[in-house]
Amino acid sequence: MKQPFLTKAKAEEIVAKYPTPLHVYDEKGIVDNARELLSAFSWNPGYKEYFAVKATPNPALIRLLAKEGCGVDCSSLTELMMAERLGLRGDEIMFSSNETAAEEFVLARKLDAIINLDDITHIDFLNETAGIPQKICLRFNPGGEFKINNAVMGTPEEAKYGLTSAQMDEAVERLMKLGVKEFGIHAFLASNTIGESYYPKLAEIIFSKIVELHQKTGAKFVFANLSGGVGVPYRPDQKKNDIFKIAQGVKEAYAATLTAAGIEGVKIFTELGRYMLAPYGGLLTRVIHFKHTYKEYVGVDACAAHLMRPAIYGAYHHITVLGKENQPETNRYDVVGSLCENSDKFAVDRMLPPVEKGDLLFIHEAGAHGHSMGYNYNGKLRSAEVLLHPDGTFDLIRRAEKPSDYFATLDIYPEFQ
Ligand SMILES: *Cc1c(COP(=O)(O)O)cnc(C)c1O
Repeated sequence: MKQPFLTKAKAEEIVAKYPTPLHVYDEKGIVDNARELLSAFSWNPGYKEYFAVKATPNPALIRLLAKEGCGVDCSSLTELMMAERLGLRGDEIMFSSNETAAEEFVLARKLDAIINLDDITHIDFLNETAGIPQKICLRFNPGGEFKINNAVMGTPEEAKYGLTSAQMDEAVERLMKLGVKEFGIHAFLASNTIGESYYPKLAEIIFSKIVELHQKTGAKFVFANLSGGVGVPYRPDQKKNDIFKIAQGVKEAYAATLTAAGIEGVKIFTELGRYMLAPYGGLLTRVIHFKHTYKEYVGVDACAAHLMRPAIYGAYHHITVLGKENQPETNRYDVVGSLCENSDKFAVDRMLPPVEKGDLLFIHEAGAHGHSMGYNYNGKLRSAEVLLHPDGTFDLIRRAEKPSDYFATLDIYPEFQ
């Protein structure tokens, strides 16, 4: 049974101050999980998690993770600007972008961020726009199908990211000529993986490529960036990935490939987004209407503009009717938002306890790729974000949008100024 991290009473206290729809985050859950991750990888001196900012770009949450020792993984100008304003720089920032604009490379170099190149043509582009740093990372795309125990986990060949194996070899040689002294390698081959085999399998591929590149070119590899992709249990019948088993699997791959080839001192980096925050954020929304036509509809005051994963991916997000956590799920509903789009459904044919008007719903795993994917379609305004502290107090960490925010880019018209 999936339980929310807050009670109905606490949720009502929060929404009395900051009305629904509202994204709420659990500080204790975030910190405990980050500490567990760091502890799991503590076998590797220099291990670092670069939180994927795109998942939840909120200063308070980034600071919370930074306090635990995490850096940030940015991929756009504004994400870099956010890191800059939070006082992060140098090895605290991984810049894993693609189709990168010149101004983004310029800012990344100004901040002395670690640049992760997505393509071989970006070597010249970076050289011309911002200069080549002494330490650089290359994003590897091994092509083909990515399989674990014969199950296809992804098709890198179809992915737009990264350099081919042959391009990796050429890029390393060219970058060495351009003065690069230290290399990193990055790959992201599967998303939201459940189970413990993804990172170990990926590590084996990355480590083998390091050995090959080192033997061919003599290049010094100082880190291996396993990127994101460790999943979370969205469904109640899934269990949390065992991060200790995952880290142990990476350790075994390290010994079998790097250590076996006489390569030492390679730091493990990760760029987790979902795993860091998804379970520790929820979307609070109020039931405002009921509708009985060919189906039974529960209408809520949130919509896909506040959490778009169900609408665009058909993703499952568990829903708890607060205060009815232990009641039997006897009724079948579609839980829907107010967009003029029939895909705006948080749940279809979901069994829930009998729902009443005014009930407060908690939509689970909204802590990553939730608020951040929000948009203004249908003139909807993005919600506020609140951080719940371990002592039960809470703080506003982003205000809700106002109509004036929506109209801000129309200030070219006198009537909107
Ligand atoms: C999206 C992304 C991540 C984070 O992915 P999660 O699935 O949230 O862990 C990490 N690195 C890069 C380059 C990404 O694009």
